[in-house]
Amino acid sequence: MLLTLDTTRRDRLTFYGYARETTPRLQALADSGMVFEDAISVHTNTAPAHASMLTGLYPRSHAVERNTDALADEVETLPEILREHGYDTAAFISGRTLRRRTGLSRGFDVYDDMVETAWRRNGRGTVDAAVAWLESRTGERPFFLWVHLFDVHYPYQPPQELLRVFLGERAPAKLPHARGLKTQRRLSPEQVEAVEAGYDAAILYADHHLGRLLNAIADRQIAETFIALTADHGETLHERDWAFDHGARVTDEQIRVPLVLCCRSPGSRIAGQVSVVDVMPTFLDVAGLPAPAGISGRSLLAAEPAGAPRPVFSHARPERERVPELPAELAERLVEKGLIDAVRVPPHKLVAWPTSDGGRALQLFDLESDPGETRDVAAEQPRRVQALGALLEQWRASTRVAQAAAAPALSPEDEEALRALGYIE
Ligand SMILES: [Zn+2]
Repeated sequence: MLLTLDTTRRDRLTFYGYARETTPRLQALADSGMVFEDAISVHTNTAPAHASMLTGLYPRSHAVERNTDALADEVETLPEILREHGYDTAAFISGRTLRRRTGLSRGFDVYDDMVETAWRRNGRGTVDAAVAWLESRTGERPFFLWVHLFDVHYPYQPPQELLRVFLGERAPAKLPHARGLKTQRRLSPEQVEAVEAGYDAAILYADHHLGRLLNAIADRQIAETFIALTADHGETLHERDWAFDHGARVTDEQIRVPLVLCCRSPGSRIAGQVSVVDVMPTFLDVAGLPAPAGISGRSLLAAEPAGAPRPVFSHARPERERVPELPAELAERLVEKGLIDAVRVPPHKLVAWPTSDGGRALQLFDLESDPGETRDVAAEQPRRVQALGALLEQWRASTRVAQAAAAPALSPEDEEALRALGYIE
């Protein structure tokens, strides 16, 4: 079973050391399994990141480089392989960015992308549907179930009683909602506190409903079910100008995600850097099936190879307006086409921004001495920039650029929903 929490950054979960208790139910899952300390997503948009979890490939290879793209025809997906080997497969998703037209439905017997409102379904509804499916199953066939919850995605609108868990009497009757909040121009300190607590309360809400799903699994005595819990990307909260946002930066608060495998090696904490491309080969490993040739991911249950730390790669979309901290000289040259590329080899990260002359502007960050990624040290460390730049180029050359399948045209309501979410202009 694959559980994905949209927009959930690692450091806001109690089992990663957060002071608030946001994950009382998932704590038990983490205690019974392997917790990955440094799991990195491939992209800060929903569909590309999920496509990588289901294919073991980076976005350049599976072709979902934006939420509006569709999976390349020739790419094999995890549910397709499992179904061929006798698994029942079902997916219950909660956000319009993962609707059927992305091609992510391939290989699922059931792909429930119903949404209650224009563009999202709350965790209660999605988990109800997933539990109903579990209850409807008969026979002994193994299953692969993917449940995606969207509650932690902006605008954070948790139930009032959960907001009160963190704010008590100070909880406002209604959280601010307007997109203008992202620029923070109209935010008071009280509002910032409330919106951040809203984010935390949304995690608590998701935790509660995933708890119901885990209970349903336990009740049906399918406790041996292998479970991976992760997120597609994180979120910039109030730490930067242009706040409460994701998709336009490759900063750690957006690409570091939770990752738990249950129930394997209870209580272990894995320090080495891994990527969400590893999700697919890990499930295949559990199923005793070989991974397709040429994928970028590798099983997280295999011993970590010795030697140099493993580089991982991430993308975001270049959008000047949403990165006000970008130096003016770079902002002027930035083109809002293609993708931002980043290679992360702790403690360093090299970020490559596409520029108007067809080249790339490089920034280097030292994640150890500057965890907020506020100081570009590229000019001070030219040799490191060159080495990481070469790694990035090698990766670009080795990840085949796949041809996206012709995605069906967007319906007017899809278009409106994507605009509401800020994914298209
Ligand atoms: Zn997402």
